[in-house]
Order: sequence, then C-alpha cells, then structure tokens
Amino acid sequence: MRESVTVQQVLAQVIANHFPGSTLREESGEYTVDLGEGLPSIAVTIRSVDEQNLNAVMFTLVVYGGGFGMVGSTINGSGYGETLREAVVMAACNWACAFGPVLLAGIGRPDLISTEDPRYEQFETTLDGRRYLVTSGHLDRGINADKDEVSAWRERLGGSIALTSAVLDGGAIPASRSNDVIGLETYLGIGPKNLPEVKYGLDDWTPAINTWQQVPNREDGYRMLREWATLSPLEPAPPLTRELVQRYLDLLAALGDDASSPAGWLGGRYHGMRLGEVATPEQLAEWGALPERAKWFFENIAVTGAGPGYGLDVRHLGQGWLHLAEAGCGAFWVLRLQDGAVGLDSRECDGQVQQVAPDVMTWFEKWLDQMLRGAPTYGVWDHSADVPAHSLSKLLAEHRPENLADVSFKLAIRTGEGRPVGPCHACEQRFAQFGIASSVFSTAPRR
Ligand SMILES: [Zn+2]
Repeated sequence: MRESVTVQQVLAQVIANHFPGSTLREESGEYTVDLGEGLPSIAVTIRSVDEQNLNAVMFTLVVYGGGFGMVGSTINGSGYGETLREAVVMAACNWACAFGPVLLAGIGRPDLISTEDPRYEQFETTLDGRRYLVTSGHLDRGINADKDEVSAWRERLGGSIALTSAVLDGGAIPASRSNDVIGLETYLGIGPKNLPEVKYGLDDWTPAINTWQQVPNREDGYRMLREWATLSPLEPAPPLTRELVQRYLDLLAALGDDASSPAGWLGGRYHGMRLGEVATPEQLAEWGALPERAKWFFENIAVTGAGPGYGLDVRHLGQGWLHLAEAGCGAFWVLRLQDGAVGLDSRECDGQVQQVAPDVMTWFEKWLDQMLRGAPTYGVWDHSADVPAHSLSKLLAEHRPENLADVSFKLAIRTGEGRPVGPCHACEQRFAQFGIASSVFSTAPRR
C-alpha cells in the first residue's frame, strides 16, 4: 500500500461495507461511496499517510446529496495500526460505526442503520429562532493517554454530547437558511497545546473556536475528543430581518480575511459585510410597480451594501430590468420586473444568461446559506473565458507556476463597453492559489 490511491480505495470500500446497498464509484482515481437512490454520497479524500514513524492515516469525507444538499458537509477521521492496512481499516470501521448511524438518523432513516448497538443521541435546539433536531455521536482516542483517562476527560467536559452542546449553546453557530441537513463537527485535542476544531458544513467555523479556552493543558500526550452532529431543520427558516442578516454577516466576517473567505476577497472587502440603505420612496417611485417580494426586500433589507459579488447596487436598467449586483469579470445579476425572477448575465464571460432564483429573497438567502455552509464561491458560470483566466494561461506559458507570485504585472479587466470591473471571486481565488496577490487587479473597485 504505497500509493495513496490504494489507501483511498480501501478506506472507501470499508466504509461502503458498513452501509448495505451502497456502491463504490471511482472517477479519475477519486472514490465516492453512494449510499443508494435518494440517499447521500460520501466522497473520500486522504489527507496524509505516515508509514515512517507510525502507521497512520488521516482522511476527510464530504457527505453530500440526499438530504445534505449539493453543498454538503465535511467530516474528518484518522486511524493508527501495526500496519498501514490495519490503520486504514480501523480508521474506516471506527468512523462508520460511530458516525454512520448519526448520518442515517440525521436524514430521518434510522431504519437503514445496520450497526450493532448504534450509539447516538438526539435532542432539539433552536438557532436564531429556528428549531433543529440534532443527532450526535462521538469517537475519542488518546495518544499516550489511556482509554479511561480519555473518557474521564469527556465526563469532566459534560459527557457524550459535551462538545456539540457547548458550541450550540455558545451562540456562534447561525441557523442555516435552506432546508438541507447540515453537519457540525467538533474536536478538542487536550495536551501540551490544546487543539480545538469546529467545522460547520464544508469548512472551519472559526467564530466558535474559543469555546474551550478554559480547558487546561496537559503536559504529555493527547486526549482526542471528536463529535459529529447533524442538524436537521424542523421548520422553515424564519423571515429575514436586517438584524438577522447583519448577525450572519458579522459571523462570516470573523471567518478570515484571505481571498478565499467571504469577507476577504475583493467583493467582500468592497462592501465590508455591512448592509447599506433601504430603498427611498423616490427610488421606489422611479422603479415603478415591483413584484411583491422584491418590494419587501428593498424596503426592509437593503438596496446597497453587503450582497452577492461586489454587493447590492440596485438601479434601473430600463426595458423592464433592475440591476442587482456586480459579480465581477463583467457578469452581473439582474431582476426581471415582470415576474421578479433573478438572472445572472454573464454574456461578457461565457456568453450566457441564466435564471438563478425565482425572486430576490431566494437569491440573497442562497448566497447567505452557501457562505454559512462554507461553499467556495457564489455565482457559477464557465470561468474559462473570463479575462483573468486568459491572463493566467498566458502567464503559465511564460513562467513556472511556482514563480508566478514574483512576476510583476497589473491586470485591468474591462467590459466590452470599456467599463472597468473587478475579478469574480472564482478568478481571484484561482490567482491566490498561485500566490498572486489581489492587488494585481488594478480595476477592482476599492474602498
Ligand atoms: Zn472571473
């Protein structure tokens, strides 16, 4: 088992064995377990394999589809053994036995649990006025700390749902906006340096990371406590208010300030994650008869400030259309006055126009929900024709990828009419992956 692909295959196969009726799918060397028709899939990624010092494997799973929605949720695992194979098999077995039942009960299918003596707990919680059913399980381990000591620490912190409850009660986990089940992973390594981790949806949720600041360090070894919970909405999301949107935005702003984060990319920096003004009577008069939900949104949420792309910039475009927001790279979102549907006009990029939401509320909520769940970027079209993508291809033809960060250049993006615009989030992120600073985008609007 020298190849990590083999490790991935074994891990995926062992997980599949724990879900009767599931199938293993291979696509360009990547393995996914499909639990069955209408059920979630589990994509397997190997993070690291250590055959040098001890036989260890660390892996990441993404659970998506069938109740979890297409964004999905991340969950980590690890295993050690006498041999690498034993480490992989143990890692997969332990994960599937501890969290397989959580997954199935979380999507309302406890009847599919095949694990003997499954251990999970269910309780209700309310986040931002929305009720959820929480299903939680745990899987602990120690390094230079025996089993009894690890379980003593769990008891000391509050028992089987200690980490999940502490994070939920701490107020830093926002309600989601969609009806999908969302995963909440909590981990605390107690040792010389305490290692806390919280994942909400796909990515790290740093606003909740300070939950265990009071837990003392230990001189040697690690007591590794891990919980995975699923949050299943029991009722629709309550109506948006300006206060609730601003709470979401404040939490999202705390996620980080690099190009991949909602607040750190050029669009997020431009609107500063702050809602602007609501519509004035003069604006409403100018825009004429508005679809009901659009009117409510403009009067009660905002027409400027934080929003998808470079933020809300609601204005008349004429011929039955309102401009909503710039996505970057020349693409923008529009509202059709006739029925209130929201479209993404990316003709400057890939030549397409597509409808993305039935109304402005749904469009805005989808943006919030995707960010809350750690989805990479919002606003999807084929970016390969975007101006930055062309520039990147040219740069890669002339320089080695690892040298791109040192190449000095400026990139001006202009629409067909010559109007200067910033990059879209996907393009800025792509540049960041090559170490190219966002300051190269000379036409990005800045505040
Ligand atoms: Zn782009």
